[in-house]
This record gives sequence, C-alpha cells and structure tokens, in this order.
Amino acid sequence: MVRELLSKIRDTLSDAEITKILFEGPEIIVYAKNIDVDMSKLRNLVKKIKKRVEIRADPSILPPQEEAERIIKEKFPKEAGIRKIKFLPEISKVIIEAERPGLIIGKSGTLLRELKKEIKWTPEILRASLISSRTIDAVRYLTYSDIKKRVKFLDKLGREIHKKSKEKISWIRVAALGGFREVGRSAILIQTNESNVLLDCGVNVASLQNAFPFFNVPEFRIEDLDAIVISHAHLDHCGSLPYLYRYQCDAPIYCTAPTRELMSLLLIDYIEVAYKGGKEAPFSKEDIRKTIRHVYTLNYGEVTDIAPNIRLTLYNAGHILGSGIIHLHIGEGLHNIVYTGDLKFSRTRLLNPANCEFHRVETLIIESTYGGKEDVQPPRQKAEEELARVINETIKSKGKVLIPANAVGRAQELMVLLDDFIRRDVVENVPVYLDGLIWEATAIHTIYPEFLSTPLQSSILRKNKNPFLSEFFERVGGSDERKEIAESKDPCIIIATSGMLTGGPSVEYLRWLAEDAKNSLVFVSYQAQGTLGRQIQDGLRVLTMEEEGKKISIKMEMKVHTIKGFSGHADRNSLLKYVSKIVPKPQKVIICHGESQKCLEFASAIRSMLRAETHAPKNLEIIRLR
Ligand code: ZN
Repeated sequence: MVRELLSKIRDTLSDAEITKILFEGPEIIVYAKNIDVDMSKLRNLVKKIKKRVEIRADPSILPPQEEAERIIKEKFPKEAGIRKIKFLPEISKVIIEAERPGLIIGKSGTLLRELKKEIKWTPEILRASLISSRTIDAVRYLTYSDIKKRVKFLDKLGREIHKKSKEKISWIRVAALGGFREVGRSAILIQTNESNVLLDCGVNVASLQNAFPFFNVPEFRIEDLDAIVISHAHLDHCGSLPYLYRYQCDAPIYCTAPTRELMSLLLIDYIEVAYKGGKEAPFSKEDIRKTIRHVYTLNYGEVTDIAPNIRLTLYNAGHILGSGIIHLHIGEGLHNIVYTGDLKFSRTRLLNPANCEFHRVETLIIESTYGGKEDVQPPRQKAEEELARVINETIKSKGKVLIPANAVGRAQELMVLLDDFIRRDVVENVPVYLDGLIWEATAIHTIYPEFLSTPLQSSILRKNKNPFLSEFFERVGGSDERKEIAESKDPCIIIATSGMLTGGPSVEYLRWLAEDAKNSLVFVSYQAQGTLGRQIQDGLRVLTMEEEGKKISIKMEMKVHTIKGFSGHADRNSLLKYVSKIVPKPQKVIICHGESQKCLEFASAIRSMLRAETHAPKNLEIIRLR
C-alpha cells in the first residue's frame, strides 16, 4: 500500500522533480526541486486518498539562511513581534516565533503561502509567550533537538500506519488497566486482531501500592503498542508515561500541543515533589525528555491515521486547556469509540463546553467523578457570587484570602474571574498574588488562545486584552517574598499551589495566616481523603507543622470556607445531560473514573435513561465490543 500510495503521488506531481518522499507520522512530505506546481492536482489527490500531503523544497534549491531571514524580517511589520527564527535545514523548514502570528499567517494563510514562494523554506508559525517560561522553551524545541532521529522515527511510524492491513478487523475489545471504579491511574487498552492502542496512562499520586495501571497482564505488551493517546495533562491521565519509555517503549503519543506542554510541566514537578518528600520518583528527567520526543500533536477536529484501520480525532472536552475527547474510528465503518477523558459540559470562563456531536459512535466510555446520586453542584454563577462575598468580607476586616489551587485549570479560571471582578468593582482592588507553578502553567495558556473559550479568544486575539497579563496579578518569587506578603498588614488575595494543602507554598502561607481570625481559607476544588485540606474541611483546628526540624502546634483561627461549583468536572446532572445529548446515540456505555459507588449509581441511571447496554467494569475486566 505504501508503494502504491507513493507512485500515485509521483504520477500526480510529475512536473515537480521529486527527489524524495518521506513520512512525518501520518503526513506525507514530498521533497522537490520545483515547488511551484499546479496545486489543484494535489488537492484532488489528497481528497481521494484522504491523507495529508505537503510539498517542501529539496535542500539544493534553498536560499542561504541569512537571505531567507532578511526577507522574513523585511516582509512583516514590527507589530507582528517576531521573537525567534530557527532554521531546520534537515527538513527544509523555518520556525518563526511571533507575538501575533495572525499578522504573519494572513487571512486563510495567504501571507504564509506568499512567504513560502519567496523563501522556499516551509514556514511554521508559533505564538511567542508574553510571559517568560522555561517549560515552553524547553519543550517546544525538544522534538527538534535530535532532528535526524525524529525524521527516522516519523518516517518509520508513517510506513507502519500506511502499510496494508493483513486481514480485516474481526474483533475489538476494551481492557480496563486502571482508573475503573476508582480515580487515578487511568489506562484503557483498545485491542483488535490487528492493533493495540492505549488511551491514557496515568498514575495514582495518592497511592504507593496501587500507583500504576496493571501493566503486568498478558494482554499488555509494550512492544506491541501501535499508539498511545493522552486525553489531558493531569497526572492521573499521563503520569505513568515516562515509566513506559524508561522501559524502551517506542510507540508514538498523540495529544494536543497544550497537553504536551502542560504534561511536561506536571511530570517534572512530580519528580521534584517526590525528591523534596525524600522519595524517589519511578522515572528520571531524561525519561520525560524521551517521552516528549515521541509526541505527535493534533488540533481538535483533525482526523489522523494512527494504525492501519484506526483513525483518531480529538474534540474539546472542556476540562482543562487542551483536554480532548478521544474518538476512534475502527475498520472502515466497523465501530466507533468515544472516550470522554475528564469532562465539563457547561461553559466556564476559561473553556467552551465539551463537544457532544460525532460522526458516529457505537461505544461511549465516560468518566463519573461526580456521577453519584448526591453529586449535584450549584451553578457556576452562584459559586462566583459566593466567592465575591467571602473576598469582600475578608478585605473589609483587613484580612487576607488564601485560595489553594492546582497549577493547571482552577488557578487560571480564578485569574480570569478575579480580573473581571476587580475591573467591574465587584471586588475591591487589592493585590492578587500567584505562587507556585501557576505562573508557568499560565504562560502555556497564553500561547494557545485558540484552545480557550470563544469570548476569551476574541478578547485576546481581536481586542488585544489578555486577562492573564492583567496588572492586578503579581508573581511571587520565593520564600522571602512569601513571608513579606504574609506579614504585611494590607489585605490581599493569594492563589497558591498545592490545591489540597499537601505541600508547597499554600502550606507555607497557611502556617503564617492560620492564627489570625481576620484571614480566610477558601477551598474551591475537591479535597481528597487523607490530605490536610480535607482534614481542615472536616473540622481539624489544631495543625501540627514542622519548623526548623521541630514539630509545632498551630491553632486555626482563620475562617474556613468551601465553595462548591468551581469544579472542572461535570456534575451528575450535567453528566446525564451529556449522555442524553450525545449524537448519535451510543449502543454501549462503559463507566470509568469514579469511586465504586458513584460508578454503579451512574451506570444504573444511564441504563434506565438510554436503555443502552451499560457496564461499570472493575480494573482487569475485559469487554468485547465486536
Ligand atoms: Zn483531569
């Protein structure tokens, strides 16, 4: 099939003087001495073979880099904010990093096409971060750091994907490897008689014995994996990845670009947190780099072959930046699987609600974090009003508000909210301090506005107003600054990691703020069993903390508030609404990602609502789909 495909391309582009054709994963790259060919023929071919084909200049016809760079700099206005130009001669590409990519791309890509004609190098435009970030710089160029290896890897991958399947797909099954009847270590193996695809690869950070998915079962073999698809960057969905790559896994990883960046940030943090806690992480930073080098990024809605006879599309899941619902089309119309990952089905300040319309879906695999009978959350607006009330009361009595939040998701939602509150005078203008990994995660949000909610996108892209860069926010540099903030007499709002008071700056602030009744501690996210956050929620009022190696007792005088309704997950009603709205109606529903009781309660609600075959399997169970 590969040979047939390539000869078709050669025939269609007969006047292009093709020098070589390589795969870049699912894409086909044609290197040619004449790139000024009739594109309509190519477009027809692409439509017919349903593949993405790109023409690039053969290195022999490329102008020198200095000349191309001069043309690029002259062509675009200062406002485009070009920050970096990086040439990749091995693949005839040039990467241009700019503050306003739209000014370089032009309407429907017109300027970009013009540029390619002029410089012959194939330009790729990345949005420059307006907040300096070590993660973005490290991750973005990591895949290009050993480019010869990457070229080989992607070509081999493309040939695998496009090789003719030996036989028709005759059976499909789902193996529950982790995250079933529990939250943490999500991992789902989709197997057919021809292929093996792993959906998510999480770790349970709260458990020592049951941290990893069941990788030691006979149906799971690292060397047989065709692809790994990651729904989103939270560690319970990707935290085991480096562990697989430590053990010579060579499968490509598919996810969105923001997921790749956020994932790197959280994986590195995982190692650092373990190290600080005197434990050793099960993988190294080098294992993380190896993992990231295997990533192939996709946009929402982009259809891609990931194995002979399996096509993948990611859709918005509304949970965190870049979170995806995974759609698998198996065997030319044989069966379609939708796996929701974590899901939010209502509009938030940060993201649009999850997509619920698909071309086809026979099996739905859905999360059930809040699937229990009691799991009904107040509407977002109520929660926002409540937060404003608590903040105002605290400020009025000259106190400080401490909001523990995880770096990714809630923190940015709060930033957008507080920027709006202060601008509209709903909340008094006091400094808002951001501490911990939040700043790095926010930087990643600023470079992917196309993944944010529609109103936020239009504000950032069209009105040039970016709430993440708001003058109300201040970044906290370190422990000394932290102490200064805590000891100052002025009221303020502090958003700090970790979200469940399991360590990090939020615990440091708590230690300093706890004894003053004017201050408020506000929980806006889920506090897991066993964490300090949960203990305080449950009434703990004397804290035992360590200071200079000695244990000390601290009496909690500060007020404690729990505000429900800010969750990044759909609540029970919203989950049920999702299942009833999903088009087309699935025949089978499989429940995952919830405590046992919640999975069962949610399954029984769906069974009576949809009259579809419903399962709430335990880990290690296998369900046959075809
Ligand atoms: Zn999540």
